[in-house]
Amino acid sequence: MIVIMRTGATEEQVEAVRQHVAGLNLNTIINRGVERTVVAVVGATHPEQRDGLLRLAGVLDVVPISRPYKRASREAKHQNTVVRVGDVEVGGPEPTVMAGPCVIESEEQVVSTARAVKEAGARVLRGGAFKPRTSPYSFRGMGEEGLRLLRLASQETGLPVVTEVMGVRDIDLVARYADILQVGARNAQNYFLLDEVGRVDKPVLLKRGFAGTYEDWLLAAEYVMAAGNQDVILCERGIRTFETYTRNTLDIAAIPVIHHLSHLPVIADPSHGTGRWQLVIPMAIAAIAAGADGLLVEVHPDPDKALSDGAQSLTPDNFRRMMDGVRAVAEVGRLNRNAVSRLGVR
Ligand code: PEP
Ligand code: MN
Repeated sequence: MIVIMRTGATEEQVEAVRQHVAGLNLNTIINRGVERTVVAVVGATHPEQRDGLLRLAGVLDVVPISRPYKRASREAKHQNTVVRVGDVEVGGPEPTVMAGPCVIESEEQVVSTARAVKEAGARVLRGGAFKPRTSPYSFRGMGEEGLRLLRLASQETGLPVVTEVMGVRDIDLVARYADILQVGARNAQNYFLLDEVGRVDKPVLLKRGFAGTYEDWLLAAEYVMAAGNQDVILCERGIRTFETYTRNTLDIAAIPVIHHLSHLPVIADPSHGTGRWQLVIPMAIAAIAAGADGLLVEVHPDPDKALSDGAQSLTPDNFRRMMDGVRAVAEVGRLNRNAVSRLGVR
């Protein structure tokens, strides 16, 4: 942290800052310029200490130097993190596509979707058994029976599965069936849940909150990592903006920004990010071209009859078209990812 004194701050005020910092068991380096004095605070600081310093007389501002998310930050670890699920890698050279229905509805629905997405090149099967629906009267998922069908589809195809865990009480149950635990946008700041999935020995797919800044999102990842689980996959799923035409606004810039700020892999969800299937293909391709480490995409064998998110679900045919586009730009994505790691974002 750097403490910037006001012009004309007195020696006594600078000394009071030095003593305050010494009281925190930290050291200072005092730099007296022509115009003003700047005090560097040396040692392991934490964000709350800024407030106490700001209250001292003669202090103009206190500027944090290191990022508040220590474990998730690129400063902490330069090398990209590769999250492994069996023989699937997220964060390696190839983009990893996760696809499947929004919600598991029947054995036939989830198994046929699993076969179709695998054949088109998906490496992970998605599907919800516990669904966070905006209205309590919407279909909220099949619960454990849904998890069982998801596992069955996994056995049929060999694809590992990702599914959402909505609350602490469901973690043991969901972890018995899932290979990756998804924490949804609505739970992106549920710190009890983040703590608890941090104690599970399975990768966590962490969605960005509707109104989450990059810092909010990376601090949420930090909760999981601080609790012991370093295998976090970030997922940009669109944020709420003033636009109403699309369900959310997919923030493609989040991809290079996260690659700059963090070593964690980041994937994009163009389904929830747009809410309209016609937009899913171009936005999936755009996200991969921007360097996304993968995608999370909703696919349904018959979207007109889907019990959830039919409007944004791709048919298997359209999913194949999307995968052709993804393959066409994968090399551009690799170039972008390397450029961000090399040049950073300012
Ligand atoms: C989902 O992926 O099924 C989901 C509910 O997404 P989100 O949490 O991003 O709304
Ligand atoms: Mn959905």
